[in-house]
Amino acid sequence: MRLGPGTRSALRAVSVVLLVAGLGLFLAAVFAMFSGFAGGPEDGLRDDPFAPMRNFVLLLFAGVFCVGAGGALARIAFLKPVAEVFATETEGALRTAAGAVGEGLAAGGLGHGVKVRCRSCRALDSEDARFCSSCGEPM
Ligand SMILES: [Zn+2]
Repeated sequence: MRLGPGTRSALRAVSVVLLVAGLGLFLAAVFAMFSGFAGGPEDGLRDDPFAPMRNFVLLLFAGVFCVGAGGALARIAFLKPVAEVFATETEGALRTAAGAVGEGLAAGGLGHGVKVRCRSCRALDSEDARFCSSCGEPM
């Protein structure tokens, strides 16, 4: 998914709004908790003594959700597009895997390693061979 500049700035705005709203909800939750615990039944909470707690939990959940969503959006909007990150990481992993396979083939003698010619019998042998595989002379 490649994001255009317009989409990105819109995402940035939304993510900032969500983060600010989430922080506001957190503050409201803390306020609700303190007012609920500090205040007594004389605050008009006689009918429902759990109202402050419920408000606190609701506000906290809403705040967590907003901050989470805002944070996720901000990651997409402010950092590299997700697709690009994936592409680079996959490419690197593929390159590593290909390199490992190539090294394995070369170690097994199946790769196209550099060949050198024996000085005495002119047979081709791999570059890192210390002795000729045909005549046994040192390379
Ligand atoms: Zn030889």
